[in-house]
Amino acid sequence: MLNEKMYALGNKRSIIREIFEYCKSRAGEIGPDKVFDFSIGNPSVEPPKEISEAIIDLVNNESSVLLHGYTSAQGDLGVRQAIAKEINEKFGAGVNENSIYMTCGAAASLTISLRALLNEGDECVAFAPFFTEYRVFVENAGGKLVVSTPMEKTFQVDVRDLESKISEKTRAIIMNSPNNPSGVVYSEETIKAVCKVLEKKQREYGNPIYLIADEPYRELVFDDIKVPYLMNYYDNTIVCYSYSKALSLPGERIGYIAVSPRAQDSQKVYLAVCGAGRSLGYVCAPSLFQQVIKRTIGAKVDVNIYKENRDILYNALTEYGYECVQPDGAFYLFVRALEDDAYKFFEKAKQKEILVVPCDDFGVSGYVRIAYCVDKQRIVNALPAFKSLAEEYKK
Ligand code: PLP
Repeated sequence: MLNEKMYALGNKRSIIREIFEYCKSRAGEIGPDKVFDFSIGNPSVEPPKEISEAIIDLVNNESSVLLHGYTSAQGDLGVRQAIAKEINEKFGAGVNENSIYMTCGAAASLTISLRALLNEGDECVAFAPFFTEYRVFVENAGGKLVVSTPMEKTFQVDVRDLESKISEKTRAIIMNSPNNPSGVVYSEETIKAVCKVLEKKQREYGNPIYLIADEPYRELVFDDIKVPYLMNYYDNTIVCYSYSKALSLPGERIGYIAVSPRAQDSQKVYLAVCGAGRSLGYVCAPSLFQQVIKRTIGAKVDVNIYKENRDILYNALTEYGYECVQPDGAFYLFVRALEDDAYKFFEKAKQKEILVVPCDDFGVSGYVRIAYCVDKQRIVNALPAFKSLAEEYKK
């Protein structure tokens, strides 16, 4: 007998992967330049040059044990110290090497953190729209995902709705800002209001409620927007960070978990993270890339390339009559489908070789996500198709 839940997950890909695979096969049929693939969040901007320089230097000058051997289960000490120093310099968060657990990207950071926090039947709240895999990760940790409905049009958090969704079973909430798929950055005002609700509910139920900050897009913000550092607003915070998007390294699988030193029983939480990492087999994140991260602290990708894409797409689509959420960060445009059923809209867009992602699995119906982390020319080439699609709906 198999584990039927795992079979079901493997047998049915996520909607994003499903469309991405279709794009690849369609590109084989009609040519890649004819398919307007906006399905997946694969960074299109080059990693900073410091990354390849660090790899070459490390490979030429460091021992193979350092680069290819096992590290401590929670990650190399020097790497964790360097990351803690960076966090403290940037945010004054007071973390240290024993607050940091190196992981294989944000997906691992989240699965480990949820495993560390949840017991069977516990609830975890996520704000819609949310990254589709949250449901899989929460359920795999034995929990139940509870969805908090956002404010209409702005897609900021509806704090009253959040309050109504927290129960004595709530053990954690996940906040993802800049958000996938809306591109929204939660304002400081929103965060303060969320933290106030959490403090109140913790007191009411006499249990800690952990705030999981899912932060793969922290660095990808436009127009000098600031992303508040949640640990500085709420003590029971666990940051799930990843270099996948920040440094355009999604295939290298590298990130970390940072447990706030001010969390209730902080060291116990950290040890539960270590235990969850162990039980899931997520120990010793890739050694070479741990060292690369240590060498390249502070390196950045050119966010202006994404900003230019955003501006071209947002300006053109709103001119054609699409209703779009103005994204302040990440590399997604959240667009209202031109009919109620986002899947039907997706099918019509597909006829024009435009591949976007219907967002029902992200917890919001009637919207699609356009991942604009693509070459600018693809966006420019796709605009006539977007225009003619809008015109068809007007007829
Ligand atoms: N969280 C969010 C919101 C994401 O969008 C993604 C990936 O797209 C992840 C987590 C997983 O990131 P990683 O590739 O670092 O595992």
